Amino acid sequence: MSLKITRTRAIATAPAGIPLVVVRVETNEPGLYGLGCATFTQRWKTVVNAVEEYMDPFLRGKDPRNIEDVWHTAMVSAYWRNGPVLNNALSGVDMALWDIAGKLASMPVYALWGGKCREGVAVYTHAGARELPELMDRVQRMIEEGFFNIRCQLGRYGGEGHAINKPDGAPEGAYYDPNRYVMETLDMMAALRERFGYDVRFLHDVHERLPLVDALYMAREMERYRLLFLEDLLQPEQVDGFRLIRSACATPLAMGELFNHPLEWRTLVTEKLIDFIRVHVSQIGGVTPARKLAALCECFGVRTAWHGPGDVSPVGHVANLHLDIACPNFGVQEWSGLRDPLPEVFPGCPELRRGYVYVNDQPGWGIDIDEEKAARYTCPETLPMWTMARWPDGTSFTP
Ligand code: MG
Repeated sequence: MSLKITRTRAIATAPAGIPLVVVRVETNEPGLYGLGCATFTQRWKTVVNAVEEYMDPFLRGKDPRNIEDVWHTAMVSAYWRNGPVLNNALSGVDMALWDIAGKLASMPVYALWGGKCREGVAVYTHAGARELPELMDRVQRMIEEGFFNIRCQLGRYGGEGHAINKPDGAPEGAYYDPNRYVMETLDMMAALRERFGYDVRFLHDVHERLPLVDALYMAREMERYRLLFLEDLLQPEQVDGFRLIRSACATPLAMGELFNHPLEWRTLVTEKLIDFIRVHVSQIGGVTPARKLAALCECFGVRTAWHGPGDVSPVGHVANLHLDIACPNFGVQEWSGLRDPLPEVFPGCPELRRGYVYVNDQPGWGIDIDEEKAARYTCPETLPMWTMARWPDGTSFTP
């Protein structure tokens, strides 16, 4: 069969208020197309442009079955590579080609990757509240719903509600106090363990909001609470600090949602400085590089915990789940839920039952997009305020 890619386009939509970008790769076989996630929510327009102005002409006429070759040539033909915009555009294409491969084989993608290592995917969910009693109630409800891995946060990333003495003329921003954040978080963990014991696994996301020495202190003090993991403790620019933290305590560490380039994870994995790798799969270029990363991690005893927030499209969530099902060294999947009207816009969404998520067994990813409905939810153009993190004196810090 002379199968060729005829067109590649980007679909931007925000059914839950968060900009999502989905790539659709079409072929000369009537009705045969694939979908992939290319969501870089804070710069979504640049990804749409990269897909339509560069990926589309590059891909026309190519055989969609040659996924590995398409991935490599699309990556290196820009010469400068491994940046977030182009990686996301390439991820949209890569996932779409795997979707097409599954449809051609009449098999779900996980079956092409060696089949099931597990029937359902264990997830961790998010519990957050401004005050401790409210957080306790939320955690209680989640345990009753069957969740057994729960990420707990008091307020937003870095904490919330701190009385801040700003200098005169301080600019707008998401102000927080790193010192109070550390102490309140440790108190929160003590209270959670006292109330819920050790049957449930708790997690906490630092979201790179601490300087190294405070991160070290928090990790050491957290050891006694037996977390499933402490998430994104350091900025990607400071990852050599994990050597220090690793040597100081046995708190399990997860890192990577901001990673773009293979050199960002290589040392962390090969020196066993982390326990869970949690890249944003579209941010590293799709499932093709993610499978190689997972295999590297398998050799060094590191488990996967792919990033799964609201700024991953349902297509991206499904791709994460197929990786989880087929990967022997899968650890846990972040699951922020699929808020209405996402399931209506994306027919074939996965289902959550008692702390596990299940995909359907349709060919490819088993998920589609209703473009008519997607067009009703235009993407907002403003940046969210949480990305403007500042310390009390107004110093900008990573969000
Ligand atoms: Mg996170």
